[in-house]
Amino acid sequence: MLLKGALTLHLDPPDVQPLDVRIEGTTIVATGPQLDVLPGEEVVDLAGKWLMPGLVVAHHHLYSALACGMPLVDESPSNFPDMLAKVWWRLDRALDEESVEISALVGGVQALRAGVTTIIDHHASPSFIEGSLECLDGALGSLGMRRVLCYEVTDRGGPTQAADGLRAHHNLLAADGEKMRAVLVGAHANFTLSDDTLRACGDLARDAGVGLHIHVAEAVDDERLVGEPLIERMRRLGALLPGSILAHCVHLKPTELEAINDAGAWVTHQPRSNLNNGVGYAPIESFPETMAMGTDGIGGDLFTELQVGWFRAQEEGVPWAPERWLRALSSGASIASQLLGTRLGHIESGAQADLVVLDPIPGPPLESHNLPAAFLFRLSSSAVESVMIAGTWQLKQRQPVWLSAAALDSRAQEVAKTVWKRMEDGP
Ligand SMILES: [Zn+2]
Repeated sequence: MLLKGALTLHLDPPDVQPLDVRIEGTTIVATGPQLDVLPGEEVVDLAGKWLMPGLVVAHHHLYSALACGMPLVDESPSNFPDMLAKVWWRLDRALDEESVEISALVGGVQALRAGVTTIIDHHASPSFIEGSLECLDGALGSLGMRRVLCYEVTDRGGPTQAADGLRAHHNLLAADGEKMRAVLVGAHANFTLSDDTLRACGDLARDAGVGLHIHVAEAVDDERLVGEPLIERMRRLGALLPGSILAHCVHLKPTELEAINDAGAWVTHQPRSNLNNGVGYAPIESFPETMAMGTDGIGGDLFTELQVGWFRAQEEGVPWAPERWLRALSSGASIASQLLGTRLGHIESGAQADLVVLDPIPGPPLESHNLPAAFLFRLSSSAVESVMIAGTWQLKQRQPVWLSAAALDSRAQEVAKTVWKRMEDGP
């Protein structure tokens, strides 16, 4: 297939060029201005369109996709653990197999429509643990999306649930061979994990040769409730492993952030979630260069996430140029490349054909020097027109190719009501 005539937008380093892109199978095999059409080649005319690499949400919770409108027992929880107990843990307990699947499809379509091609998810459904990752895998697989999955192990439901959470990973820990799926070992957060359970998470991950995916220092309570510096604790328990994702890190010291980087683990930033939960401002100036952007379950729109991150940082006086934010956006693809064992996030020969076609937003010339600013002040997910993953179109004219969005919507409305009812009836 030859994609012809688009203006290609490379994110890191920022680079805007008119390039044709040749794809064979799942892979980009050539790029260049005005590539000749080969005999028998399918040509896709993208004249006047923009083309960028697929985006990666580095920390998501697809299980929250049916949350908007759910019943609340307390409109203003007093602190973050209170909010978890009164809101999110009531929701995840109410999820069954059907609602986990629908949540993944709803969240997956939302993300596709925002130009996301890979989701790194952190899943919880205490009433449906065994088989939950297979369920997510099937749903995201049916949308053709790449995914990195985990089940968030915790002691909050007792030792049996913690053991079930660990076991939920077993079937999928081996690579899928097609570089579409990987698994990390999920752990909720230090303050809901006993020493034994966190150590067991580290052991399972180390034995499988993968990292952990865990919330760290999201709220100040995390360290207060544990009574020990979190990174030190994770190291002591063998749970600070290379290839791990440590989400939030709002209340860590520069030396702790350095230790994460030295361990070969990654930090993700979720500015909208931090604002929403009132957990404080993350020390992003001390975050490692590899920091990536997540949404923490607030949809799949990284354009908005990046913009909120930028504006909040401006308010805080953080001297980050727009280029630094574009690197943070692009870092998700670097992380996913390592986890999936392939090359993502680039429009070049040898990279996977995970591509997003954008309708141009009329305005001044879009050039390499102003691309970072365009991501903060001009572009939005509404410009996403089509999405290709591994050389196959998965979204066309904003519609998922393999399922009816209208049918999904009506099923989601029904399933959401049953979830909300269980939340009302639940403890
Ligand atoms: Zn999270």
